[in-house]
Amino acid sequence: MSLHHDHLLAMSVEGLFKEFGAKKVLHDVSIEIAAGQIVSLVGPSGCGKSTLLNSILGTLLPTAGAVSIIDAKGARNLVREPGRDRGIVYQRYSLYPFLTAQENVAIGPKLDETSLPFRLFRPFAWRELRRTHLDQAAQLLEKVGLGDAIHRYPHELSGGMRQRVAIAQALIMKPRILLLDEPFGALDEATREDLQTMLLRFYEDNIAAKRAGEDPPYTILIVTHELNEAIYVADRVLGLSQYWDWKEAGYDAAPGATVIYDKAAPIYKSTDLKEYERFVAQREEIRQIVFEQAPLPRLGEHVTFWENLDPNITEGILGS
Ligand code: ADP
Ligand code: MG
Repeated sequence: MSLHHDHLLAMSVEGLFKEFGAKKVLHDVSIEIAAGQIVSLVGPSGCGKSTLLNSILGTLLPTAGAVSIIDAKGARNLVREPGRDRGIVYQRYSLYPFLTAQENVAIGPKLDETSLPFRLFRPFAWRELRRTHLDQAAQLLEKVGLGDAIHRYPHELSGGMRQRVAIAQALIMKPRILLLDEPFGALDEATREDLQTMLLRFYEDNIAAKRAGEDPPYTILIVTHELNEAIYVADRVLGLSQYWDWKEAGYDAAPGATVIYDKAAPIYKSTDLKEYERFVAQREEIRQIVFEQAPLPRLGEHVTFWENLDPNITEGILGS
């Protein structure tokens, strides 16, 4: 009996397979993420990380298996198409150039909650709702560190600021899980570090919410090819790879990528000095297992997050 049933999950991927014609990409991928976790996903280029994210998002349908989003009350909703309970931010997110940061963030609920006839024929109700959306947008921009820039247009924002707007744009929909696909990949190192710190603050908000008996507001699955980042921002690292010992497992042809690494990562505070020394060993372990494929990992060998979860942990969102 694994421990994870004691924790309220936000998302579950069960036995997911994805093939594009004859090309087998994802093989029997199963992942459970607890509400409030920030989980990194790493893996060799082309192994299927974006395919997995798009399957969770609902823009790609799996060949077999299922993705479920589990709401705060524990109800499971099977993913069949994109929906408000999932958000995504890509490496280069395009904002509407003719809208301010605040209007860009407010556009999601506008399109989702109102129709053109509503806006035309109920102008007073619309004006009031619009005010609510703009207030929420301003709060979120404050949250992502852009409180001073809410009236700026995208061309007046740096790359890092635009990614912050994109994240606020996703968060305003209050997704149960936020998917980030190499979100900081196009940013310079200093900007990237600022955004990593922002994720650590989100995690601290989660822990504060949990202590207050509330639902943790941010559950995040982030794809990154930067191993330091993967370990630093997350409480858990997943490795996806097509290089595993499938012969040993009884397959006579490469069956696709699966989760070959799943372990806890050390938890940093946003105010801590960023000491990479604390995780050099883990970074080397991930490099070897997930990227160098030598020796080929056996199925499940390094997939130990839930079974190794210490029942006495006090740290992190799964702590007491
Ligand atoms: P990653 O994000 O890990 O770099 P992807 O998920 O983008 O990898 O791609 C995984 C594999 O699936 C690649 O070999 C890619 O060429 C293939 N692939 C992705 N999308 C499609 C598609 N729509 N049609 C055919 N092959 C695809
Ligand atoms: Mg990708």
